[in-house]
Amino acid sequence: MHFRATRAEIDRDAFAHNAQLIRDSAAGAKVLGVIKADGYGHGVISTANAIAAHVDAFAVAFIDEALQLREAGFSLPIVLLEGCLSAAELPICAHHNLQPVVHEPSQLDAILTSRLVRPLAVWLKVDTGMHRLGWHPQDVARVYRELEASPNVGAITLMSHYANSGDSEHPLTQRQNDLFSAVCAETAITESLSIANSAALLSSSKDFSTLDGHWVRTGLTLYGVAPRTPDQNIKIPLRPVMRLVAPVIAVREIPVGDSVGYGSRWQAKRKSRIATVAIGYADGYPRHCPDGTPVYVHGTEVPLIGTVSMDMITIDITDLDAVQVGDEVELWGPNLPVDRIAEAAGTISYELFCRVSARVPRVEI
Ligand SMILES: *Cc1c(COP(=O)(O)O)cnc(C)c1O
Repeated sequence: MHFRATRAEIDRDAFAHNAQLIRDSAAGAKVLGVIKADGYGHGVISTANAIAAHVDAFAVAFIDEALQLREAGFSLPIVLLEGCLSAAELPICAHHNLQPVVHEPSQLDAILTSRLVRPLAVWLKVDTGMHRLGWHPQDVARVYRELEASPNVGAITLMSHYANSGDSEHPLTQRQNDLFSAVCAETAITESLSIANSAALLSSSKDFSTLDGHWVRTGLTLYGVAPRTPDQNIKIPLRPVMRLVAPVIAVREIPVGDSVGYGSRWQAKRKSRIATVAIGYADGYPRHCPDGTPVYVHGTEVPLIGTVSMDMITIDITDLDAVQVGDEVELWGPNLPVDRIAEAAGTISYELFCRVSARVPRVEI
């Protein structure tokens, strides 16, 4: 039971719509629904429920996130994008059909020296140039052979990750594609490959020539946000899943010259009407938002004014007629793209979603 009306509405139909669009654009490929970080802040169980019928497997960052899904009864395979951090995780992976990424030597050793009741499907990660995770391309064939020869290992999927995903013209993207193709050839893996995330899937000139036999790893698009790429031609009719809303809790008039909020950052240039809205940085609304950041109320956009507080923001409603206590304000959602707020706050939509805090109820609609 929540008395406070501040909430993140989660639109299940939008989820299904987006997942189907991704299916269609990824014809020939299998879809890995990326639901790490509590489903990008949308609530992992609602997310998994809404997309399970539309994806071939789930991906999360680490084992605890996967076990939460198993405990909730989901049976699709789950990829652990960072793999296992200790050998103790391997029997649990085998038991629950969790598929770890293998990206560095201690993970390989643990798999080769374990005694598992059942072989693990693993994802062998190649560092094609992002230099975050993965094996040097020249080590991949050897590691692949060692995994292949182990009774602990079943299917092996070869994967890599773009540093400039969706930018097919970037020189590093081309280098990454070349290196990935080379290790595919060397290991003779022609199916079970995975390099594209949301942006790579949707960029108009595909980063990879064919998606047949590939797994596409889609996160952001599932949640209804088109990736921001140099290729501005991404015109896929995604529907935002999250609508972040909060009520007006006070309205006042202030004279010219008076200021609003901490640090008196904003000063009234005219006689102004100010509404106070029950959402702040403790809810995940970014404190970095400057004056002028849009919020949506009464069917139109008005500016945030004054510093974002822990539990509240203030907005300028001078140009609106009848805003009253209790009225609903949309901070982002179908009427106000989250990217606009991300840009104002100097960040990306991913971070805004993940930062919606635990005290904001996720409400399925
Ligand atoms: C999070 C993640 C993805 C999903 O990326 P989106 O841009 O959200 O589609 C894909 N691959 C890896 C390795 C990831 O960590």
